[in-house]
Amino acid sequence: MAYTYDPQNIFAKILRGEIPNKTVLETEHTLAFHDIYPQAPVHVLVIPKGPYVTYDHFCAEASDAEIVDYARTVARVCDMLGVAEDGWRLISNAGANAIQEVPHLHVHILGGRNLGRMLQPA
Ligand code: 5GP
Repeated sequence: MAYTYDPQNIFAKILRGEIPNKTVLETEHTLAFHDIYPQAPVHVLVIPKGPYVTYDHFCAEASDAEIVDYARTVARVCDMLGVAEDGWRLISNAGANAIQEVPHLHVHILGGRNLGRMLQPA
């Protein structure tokens, strides 16, 4: 699969500082910030700073340093927001079937309430 990255997507604009965000944590390769339309008491997005469209794109093409930094940032955010004890959910939508809205890799960290079953019937 060949991916084409659109540098005008909204998360690219956030990374360039063109749009504000409520940052939770920023590291060398990763940014975590609150979702603008939270669907749970905790709803944080974690994005790599590099130009990756989806999780599989990132895992295939990012450097080891970027991947480790990204994974460790997810863990640090969970710790900072205190979701681990009661449970939380990690979601990454990729492409049309998942209705990915923003074509820059992001995982959603959701928690702070019972989140129900993972998928609703279509
Ligand atoms: P997706 O459907 O692509 O997995 O999720 C995109 C997420 O980005 C949505 O949850 C949406 O609320 C969030 N989002 C869209 N635009 C902005 C924005 O400008 N700022 C922030 N913080 N979140 C955004």
